[in-house]
Amino acid sequence: MIKKNPEIIQIFVNNGHNQVFIESSYTQNDRSSKSPEEKVIIFKDLFYHDTITGYYNWNYIWPRIAFFDQYGIQDYSFVYFDIKDFKAVNVIYGHLTANNLLKNITRHMEEMDWVYCSARCDNDNFAMMIKDMPEEETREKLEQFFEGISYLEEDRNYRVYYRCGVVPMRISVEMGNLVADAGKQAKAFGTKPFTTEIIFFTDEMREEQNRAIQLRTYLDCAIERDEFLVYLQPKYDIQTEKIKGAEALIRWAYKGKTMLSPGLFVPLFESGGLIGKIDDIVLKKVCMKLKEWDRQGKPLYPISVNISRKSVGAPGLVDHLTEIVDSYGVDHSLIDFELTESAANDNQDNMIKVIEALYNQGFKISMDDFGTGYSSLSLLPIMHFDTLKIDKSFVDGIGKPAECAKNCAVVKQIVALAKDLNLICLAEGAESKEQVELLRDFGCEVVQGYYYSKPLPVEDYEKLL
Ligand code: C2E
Ligand code: MG
Ligand code: MG
Repeated sequence: MIKKNPEIIQIFVNNGHNQVFIESSYTQNDRSSKSPEEKVIIFKDLFYHDTITGYYNWNYIWPRIAFFDQYGIQDYSFVYFDIKDFKAVNVIYGHLTANNLLKNITRHMEEMDWVYCSARCDNDNFAMMIKDMPEEETREKLEQFFEGISYLEEDRNYRVYYRCGVVPMRISVEMGNLVADAGKQAKAFGTKPFTTEIIFFTDEMREEQNRAIQLRTYLDCAIERDEFLVYLQPKYDIQTEKIKGAEALIRWAYKGKTMLSPGLFVPLFESGGLIGKIDDIVLKKVCMKLKEWDRQGKPLYPISVNISRKSVGAPGLVDHLTEIVDSYGVDHSLIDFELTESAANDNQDNMIKVIEALYNQGFKISMDDFGTGYSSLSLLPIMHFDTLKIDKSFVDGIGKPAECAKNCAVVKQIVALAKDLNLICLAEGAESKEQVELLRDFGCEVVQGYYYSKPLPVEDYEKLL
C-alpha cells in the first residue's frame, strides 16, 4: 500500500512477517529534486535490493514464494544456502574480498537458467527458487553451481564450501512462505567441515519442525500450568561417599501426561531463543527449595544450575540471575552455575565477562562436559572455574576392557590437570563400581552418576539430606 502526501512519501509494505514502514534518508535529502513517482522508484529499489551486492534481497523473493502462481511459476524447489566459515574469509582476506565473494555468488545465481529467482537474504545467506527436477538432477546441478563459486577471485587456491538445504516442490508448495524455515532446518544438518553439503528436506524433518512449532507455542501455557519440574541428581564425595551437593536437571510433564527429558526440548528452545525462560524457572525452584531447607534447619549443600550456551550473550544476564537469587535471600555460594565450554565457541569474550561477573558475585562456577569442545584447554587458565566436570564420554571408556588403558591415561591426566589448577574434579556419568574405584585411584574428588544415584524428584532428594 502506498500513501502519499506532498512532502513525504510513506510506503507500507508487508514483508511476510510484519507491516514495515520505510522512508530513506536518500529521499529526504533528495526530496526537492525528485518527483513523487521517481521517489517511489527509489524506494522500491532500496526495498528490493541489497546494498552490498546490489542484487535482490529477501523482500524481492518472498512474494514470489507466497504467490508463485501469480508470478507465472508452475512448480519450484526452494534452495537456501550459506558459506561455511565465511568469517575466515573476512578475517584472512578482509571485507573487500569477502564482499567480492558475495557478489560472485549473486552473479552466478543470476546466470543459471534453472533458477527462477534468487536473492541474498542477509549476511552470507542466499535463497533461490529453482526449476523442479528429479532429486539426482537437482543435486547434480547444485554441485556444478557450487563448484563454480568454490574459489576466491583473489586466491584461486582457497576453497570455499557451502551448506545447502533443498525443499522439494511438493513440500515447498504446501509450506508457502514457511518454506524458508524448512530450507534453514535442512541446511543446519550440514555440519561437516571442508566439504560442500546439499541436504534435502524430508517429511521426517517436517514432522520435527511441526513438533518444534507446537512445543514453542505451548511454552507459555506450560509455564502457567507449572508443567516444568526440577529433578536433583546428587553429587557424592568419592572418599567419604557422602552427599556434596546436586545438579538441577529439568523435566517437562508435558500436558500433565508425558514426561519429556531435556534432550527433547532444550535444543528447540535454545534455537528459538526461549531457553532463558526455562533456566529462570529452574533457578527460581532451586532457590525456593534452598530457602525452605534453610528455614527447616536442614544441611545446605550447593546446587548447580545449567546456563544454556545460548544465554551467555544475553545482555544483563548476571544481574538478572543475581536478582533472582537475591529475591529468595539465598547465599550466593550455594548456587553453582554450570557453563559448557562450547559456549565459548559462540563468543569467548562474552563467556569471559559472564564468568568474571559471576565470580565477583560470589557464585560457584563449573565447566560442564569438559573435553567435548575444542576450546577446553585454552579456557582453563583465563577463567575462574571452581569445578571441572569430566564429560561422561571419557568416564564411559574406563573400567571396560577394550581401550581401557588408553582411556584411563586420558582421565588420569585430566584429573591431574584439575588438581594442578586448584579445581575440584568431578566425573560425570559413572555407572559401575569399577569406574568409581578407578576414579578414586586417580584422585578424582566428586562423582555424579547412576552408580550413586539417578536424578531424583525433589522430595526423594530431600529424604537423603
Ligand atoms: P548435563 O548438564 O551434562 O547433565 C548431565 C546429564 O547426564 C543428565 O541428563 C543426567 O541425567 C545424565 N547422567 C548423569 N549420570 C548419568 C549416568 O550415570 N548414566 C547416564 N546414562 N546418564 C547420566 P539429562 O537430565 O537428560 O540432561 C541432559 C542435558 O540437558 C544436560 O546435560 C544439560 O546440558 C541439559 N539440561 C538439563 N537441564 C537443563 C536446564 O535446566 N537448563 C539447560 N539450559 N539445560 C539443561
Ligand atoms: Mg550440567
Ligand atoms: Mg554434563
